[in-house]
Amino acid sequence: MSSHYEKCCVGCGTTEDVARLDRCPICSKTFCTDCAYRASGRRFCSDMCARTYNYGDIEDDDQDPDLDD
Ligand SMILES: [Zn+2]
Ligand SMILES: [Zn+2]
Repeated sequence: MSSHYEKCCVGCGTTEDVARLDRCPICSKTFCTDCAYRASGRRFCSDMCARTYNYGDIEDDDQDPDLDD
C-alpha cells in the first residue's frame, strides 16, 4: 500500500470521499462539480482550459501573439 493516490479538487480541495470529481480533458486536473466550468457540453477545471479546448490550441507555444515586444 505505498502508492495511495488521493485525488482532490483543484478549486476547493475537496476529496473524492465527499464529492464527485471529474478530470479536466486539457490539464488532467481533478475538480468537483461545484468548481466545474461548463462549456461545449463538457466540464473543465477552469475557463482557461475550456477556451483552450475550444481553440484546439494545446501545442507548446511559449509566444503570446498579443505581446508586441
Ligand atoms: Zn471544488
Ligand atoms: Zn484544466
